Amino acid sequence: MHTRPIWAEISRSRLVANYRALQSVAAPHAGLLAVVKADAYGHGVTLCAPWLVEAGAEWLGVTSVEEGLLVRKHCPQAHILVLCGFWPGDEDALIEHALTPTLWTERSIHLLARAAERKKMPAQSVPVHLEIDTGMTRQGAALEDLPSVLASLRAAKALRLDGVFTHFASPEILNSPQNDAQQARFAQALQRIDADGLRPAWIHAGNSSTLLAQDRLPALAATAKTYGAKLLVRPGLALYGYALPFVQQDESLERPLSVTLQPVLSWKTRIAALRTVEPGTAVGYGATFVAQHTMRLALLPVGYADGLNRGLSSRGSVLVRGQRASIVGRVSMDLIVVDVSAVAEVSVGEEVMLIGEQAGATGAVGADAKQTITRVTAEDHAQWAGTIPYEILCAISVRVPRVGAA
Ligand SMILES: *Cc1c(COP(=O)(O)O)cnc(C)c1O
Repeated sequence: MHTRPIWAEISRSRLVANYRALQSVAAPHAGLLAVVKADAYGHGVTLCAPWLVEAGAEWLGVTSVEEGLLVRKHCPQAHILVLCGFWPGDEDALIEHALTPTLWTERSIHLLARAAERKKMPAQSVPVHLEIDTGMTRQGAALEDLPSVLASLRAAKALRLDGVFTHFASPEILNSPQNDAQQARFAQALQRIDADGLRPAWIHAGNSSTLLAQDRLPALAATAKTYGAKLLVRPGLALYGYALPFVQQDESLERPLSVTLQPVLSWKTRIAALRTVEPGTAVGYGATFVAQHTMRLALLPVGYADGLNRGLSSRGSVLVRGQRASIVGRVSMDLIVVDVSAVAEVSVGEEVMLIGEQAGATGAVGADAKQTITRVTAEDHAQWAGTIPYEILCAISVRVPRVGAA
């Protein structure tokens, strides 16, 4: 039972519109693998994954086997790629539930091959995707390890190399020589794989930024075509309506996005209490905020235990009646206080937006009165907190129910 009024509304129509917009950007060159890892970037994977499949997504990307099993229950037909590899003990579940593992070590190939043997799986019946480390220095087989990894794969008769992929380290840095170097190493790896007689059906590379920048897609598509494979790009963040700004040589580039993206998540609460305080009144832990004049303050039942970043202390704002109201004092575990002095007719129980948009009046009256939309975005939270929108969205805690909306 959720009576504490804090929740996140997840818009199906916006998620689908973002998916379609990204699909149209990719379409001349590639299909999409929709990344729904980390509980769909905090949006709720049991809501988002089926909506994406209904919108046409054939491939979904998850973090772990555990997440894959949850998605499999809701999406019986989708291809599900487990992006972060698997752990000893995951092999049977991978095979039984047709989850496609990422792998890149001989050890993981042996583990899966042994499980397939125990289950008497026919030849070539267990699909795997091989990740190539082309410069991220994180997951993936380094080029020098590729010969031995490929030899293990060929020896594992039940396994089928269904896909090969890599991940770019700096996709939002346009004209980064690192991206070119990574793409060249990826092409080299694919050549080696082909020379070994392995024929992956899928080749994939790139995230939201790679897709939105567009410039790498034709060459990647040409490479895939050389080997008779289909190309996929793997957007995550953009599906949920956000994009990192493109940068070039440490300078922000005013490069407009080729598509309109709409934030999918609205984070809401309600005013728990209101009070008026006199000048000199301290607010919150450490008394870091002291009222300089008479103020009207609203108490909101949200804190860092809900995932509201503590960096928003005396920096962030929320929306009340279409107006921004500043957070005053520190974000507590379960509570914040906001300044509603400038907002007319506020009442207890009133809905407040932590992330989202509200219609607000300009303040003009009569014929000049205009409805404007005011917003607070995950991007705003990220700037206040000194982080990225990814972290803001993923941090919204399990204490906040995700509710499907139109
Ligand atoms: C998370 C992830 C993505 C998606 O990245 P976004 O920046 O959210 O688009 C793509 N590929 C891999 C391998 C990832 O881990």
